[in-house]
Amino acid sequence: MTYSHIIRKSLNIKDENIHFDINTYTCPEEIIKGTHYLIYEGLLSYKPKACHHCGTINRNESIIKHGTKLSKIKLGNILFKPALLWLKKQRYLCKACERTFIAETSLVNEYCFISNPIKQTIAYELAETQSMTAIARRVSVSPNTVIRHLVETGQTLEPSRFDLPEHLSFDEFKSVKEAAGAMSFIFTNAQTHDIIDIVENRQQKALISYFQRYPYELRANVKTVTLDMYSPYLKIIHDCFPNAELIIDRFHIIQHINRALNRLRIEVMNDIRYTRPRDYTKLKKQWKLVLKNVWSLDFETFSSHRLYDGLVTEKMMVNYILSMDERFQWIYDLINDLKWHMSRGNFEGFATHLERSKERSVQRYIRTTFQTLEKYLDSIENSCVYTLSNGHLEGINNKIKTLKRSGYGYRNFRHLRARALISLKLFQKENTDIRPLTFEEERQTDEAKGKNAA
Ligand SMILES: [Zn+2]
Repeated sequence: MTYSHIIRKSLNIKDENIHFDINTYTCPEEIIKGTHYLIYEGLLSYKPKACHHCGTINRNESIIKHGTKLSKIKLGNILFKPALLWLKKQRYLCKACERTFIAETSLVNEYCFISNPIKQTIAYELAETQSMTAIARRVSVSPNTVIRHLVETGQTLEPSRFDLPEHLSFDEFKSVKEAAGAMSFIFTNAQTHDIIDIVENRQQKALISYFQRYPYELRANVKTVTLDMYSPYLKIIHDCFPNAELIIDRFHIIQHINRALNRLRIEVMNDIRYTRPRDYTKLKKQWKLVLKNVWSLDFETFSSHRLYDGLVTEKMMVNYILSMDERFQWIYDLINDLKWHMSRGNFEGFATHLERSKERSVQRYIRTTFQTLEKYLDSIENSCVYTLSNGHLEGINNKIKTLKRSGYGYRNFRHLRARALISLKLFQKENTDIRPLTFEEERQTDEAKGKNAA
């Protein structure tokens, strides 16, 4: 192994036209803005095949060496010290056209001083949950350089306008403050769970014009769209995807029903706040138990509970809570029937019980809940037929949330979008922490929201 070879190997330089000479190496050091840099001196030289300008083949010394040009290239850190490569690039003179050109290398792009391996590292680091200043510090570049690469890499990940899967999933997430309505739109391939794009504005008009940029044949080819019960999407799908069937995500249906039950609990709780403080505490503390599916309640294990006298089971506690107010039992049973049939994918049963909700007069908001379900009944039927769901999107949204948090919030939507696309598209296969939440986890996040509302 030659000296050149060893240095190239240790600096991870692939280009064999870069040479290091042990005899001329003077071991210089440089201090830039208080930082100590390791310096390597190299020469980029080779026999060019042809002139860059006129294309004349290099034969019989038609292209000759003509001095060098020094560039200082950032290499990254070596044992925690940033390293610079002082690279003398050979300049050539073409006798045919009498113009000069400079040797090229895969290590660094023309007019750049940041080496390509650093750029790759930045892209890789951007996929991880960490702030951009932390990345900048690690690879010894400025935060602005990191942001520039973020934007550049993000641009390469724009989805193709000539490719649209047959099954789509729609969802939204809390975006940057600037975004209209502070909510942004995200859509994925419902079968492969690959992210397709993130759109800043989830409002109807914006999304319709977004989707209309896809050719009509592709849009007409979309078979299903899985979504939650956000009504503006209906018009978007009607206008943009003429042949698509709607699937309401099952989890969102259950979430929707649970919300009504939770609201009833809060209502009863506030009514008895000053008259029955002990019952009030039970309603307040045991919100989780009330929302738990009735068929999953434990009725066998007796244990002591500080809110109850003697030994109790989960089932006994729920029964006590339901006995507090006559508004409870009937709606609780009805909602659990709906949840049961939904979880079993039994549409007939679901529809029958929904019909049954008309038998009694109920609170206005509970009526609204049932009316919404009726409005979406066809799509709910589809959700019992297809196995597609939006579960994976919860995982993706979670990832975006952690990315947002790692950067202490993003002000610029373009940056957030690029970051999310890099993380989810470029390195998706390597990201093991992207997994859909389990149903239990989803339920808990939802319930936590309910708790805040209480
Ligand atoms: Zn030439």
